[in-house]
Amino acid sequence: ATHLVWFRNDLRVTDNLALHHACQDPDATVIAIYIATPKQWQQHDMSPRQAWFIHQHLAELQNQLSTLNIPLLYQETGTFDDAVSIIQSTCLQYQITDLFYNKQYEWNEVQRDKAIARQLADSTIALHGYDDSVLSAPGTIVNGSGKMYQVYTPFRNKYCDYLRHQPVEVYPKPKKRVQSVKVDSDAIKPFSYPCQKTDHFVIGETQAIKCLQRFCQEQVDDYLKQRDIPFLDSTSHLSAYLTIGVLSPRQCFARLKLEYPEFLDVTSSGAFGWFNQLIWREFYRHLLFLFPKLSKNKPYIDWTQRIKWRNDKTDFTAWQKGLTGYPIVDAAMRQLNQTGWMHNRLRLIVSSFLVKDLMLDWRWGERYFMSQLIDGDLAANNGGWQWSASTGTDAAPYFRIFNPSSQSKRFDPDGKFIRQYLPELADIPDDAMSDPHRWAKQNNVKLDYPEPIVEHNKARQYTLAAFNAAK
Ligand code: FAD
Repeated sequence: ATHLVWFRNDLRVTDNLALHHACQDPDATVIAIYIATPKQWQQHDMSPRQAWFIHQHLAELQNQLSTLNIPLLYQETGTFDDAVSIIQSTCLQYQITDLFYNKQYEWNEVQRDKAIARQLADSTIALHGYDDSVLSAPGTIVNGSGKMYQVYTPFRNKYCDYLRHQPVEVYPKPKKRVQSVKVDSDAIKPFSYPCQKTDHFVIGETQAIKCLQRFCQEQVDDYLKQRDIPFLDSTSHLSAYLTIGVLSPRQCFARLKLEYPEFLDVTSSGAFGWFNQLIWREFYRHLLFLFPKLSKNKPYIDWTQRIKWRNDKTDFTAWQKGLTGYPIVDAAMRQLNQTGWMHNRLRLIVSSFLVKDLMLDWRWGERYFMSQLIDGDLAANNGGWQWSASTGTDAAPYFRIFNPSSQSKRFDPDGKFIRQYLPELADIPDDAMSDPHRWAKQNNVKLDYPEPIVEHNKARQYTLAAFNAAK
């Protein structure tokens, strides 16, 4: 038998379900393949930082696989359609008997995998797909009528119940193989896609596992107390690894359980608080799979399609560049532009600001985030944007509108985070950081910083009226 493992968003050898199962037969020859699809990435607005991150991890993956005696073939093509042809021809060339892959849940990815299944239907090649990027497959956590939950909390409760009864196994990396057929690995050439290096994330599966371990041992206890304060930077920073599959959620769960065996039953603990975020990740993946419209630029709540968004490119550019005159928004956007990552509290603040203060279409923000984030992930990003825009599954109604200045006072009371990214406000006293213009007027100081592009209270009225009209 010759097994082909098709790597996509699962760039690791430990606890990789497709790889693990492909290696179960000791006599099979195992070959791996990765196909870069720059045209498709362009269509999905993949950020140059994420492309760079993938490229780095691909080289790492090839090293890891070579220690197991498994060659990694590499090809670059255009779109998913072209990737399907490459898989077909590779299957022919190497007389593949079994194709192993981990499932993806985005619409285009699902169509690609269906196309492969159709193409190979008449052959003797067996397909083996795994739900590897989630702890529970979409469709397994459902309500009494067998339907997906519309709101998060009951989903979470059911999910925790499921995990109390379901053993979670983490597979070690496969053993070194003795291969009967010798196949050479391909060189991993530079992608024909813009790649941007970042120094903010260490590279490699081993390093990522260490980060997870360190976080669970040293930081998780304080998670609930500190997670909302951007300046403390106390969250795990693991999203980029989870997004491209350098880490699995099973590894996260198992590590937490090792440190805090009872955490599922201690909902007030830091460990549960952190795991709760991983359940959000799972929730959005389930939704994306079960509601294809979410992959197609459609809101979850249909009536919100009638909202008349403002079409103001100047305001959008100010938001993108961090020049809105609201320091917390601007510092956050500059964090995104400079590092490719943004703290969760700030993602909430800037997305709410774009939608509810500027009344711009949430999809503009969603796309811009994808084009910048190193952890850009359709499910989480779409879920986050629709939550903020009140077009999604959020239990709270659309009239919950964040006030950016109050958010700033609450989560960055001394302006320490703002100072990191807005050097032009260096001389402003701590307690004036949320509204430096008022302080400047009172003290007759001229600021080299834009006036607020919108007045929050007016914007709030405008937004409420627009949502009401649409409803
Ligand atoms: P931690 O606080 O350490 O959380 C642990 C893990 O849980 C994260 O690594 C991530 O995988 C997951 N997670 C945490 N919060 C969420 C959440 N709200 N929804 C889904 N998963 C979550 N996350 C992405 O991974 N990719 C995105 O493209 C993305 N876009 C977002 C857009 C908006 C508008 C909002 C509000 C949130 C978005 N998030 C996204 C969720 C969240 O902001 C990030 O996952 C988190 O900030 C990453 O930092 P961390 O790894 O330190 O998180």
